[in-house]
Amino acid sequence: MRLVFLGPPGVGKGTQARRLSQEYNWPQIATGDILREAVAQETPLGVRAKEYMDRGDLVPDEIVVGIVKERLAEPDAQEGFILDGFPRTVNQAQELEAELSSFGSGIDAVVFFKVSEKEIIRRLTGRRICKTCGALYHIIYNPPAVEGKCDQCGGELFQRSDDSEDTVRRRMEVYLAQTAPLISYYRSRGILWEVNGEQNPDQVYRQLKEVLGLNND
Ligand code: AMP
Repeated sequence: MRLVFLGPPGVGKGTQARRLSQEYNWPQIATGDILREAVAQETPLGVRAKEYMDRGDLVPDEIVVGIVKERLAEPDAQEGFILDGFPRTVNQAQELEAELSSFGSGIDAVVFFKVSEKEIIRRLTGRRICKTCGALYHIIYNPPAVEGKCDQCGGELFQRSDDSEDTVRRRMEVYLAQTAPLISYYRSRGILWEVNGEQNPDQVYRQLKEVLGLNND
């Protein structure tokens, strides 16, 4: 299946994409993760992207679209994929459509994860991530057994620099102005499915599989 996960930052797209990817073996293609990796490696692309990311703004389309096109050409993405955090503008969506149609394919479904703004701020500012394996935690909703340490691999947990309250507010503004129009864009194409992201992660996962017609045994 070729899927797009859409929704505001902190809605749980990454958590759900990770889980679905592990169950079905479709690669999770998270542009935010790819960009953070480039920033950490200090590649020329990472150096350019960093200033936008630090402000909570979107990285220019030409950078992100190039990254996604390269990733979609990898062998593991030929049977399906989960795009997590891309597209984020109508222009990116059009570029994606053009790229896929040149291979004779297209997006099968877009899942829109819906959560209130208040809940998003609470989730993002409490979010912690394992430096080693990428596992996600929350200091109140999903704390690790030992503070600051990953339950799965013992790695050190860190807070993303753009998860501070001011940057989170900016990311929300950017989402509403530039990404939210994709909801009607995909709805009008008849491929948009909505999932209530306020439920607990297991319930969200159940509903996700239901809307995608995947069995829930
Ligand atoms: P995320 O991890 O998805 O919240 O992304 C973190 C940051 O990476 C965003 O705030 C943007 O600066 C940048 N980013 C990720 N995906 C995209 C995209 N599709 N288009 C533009 N910028 C992006």
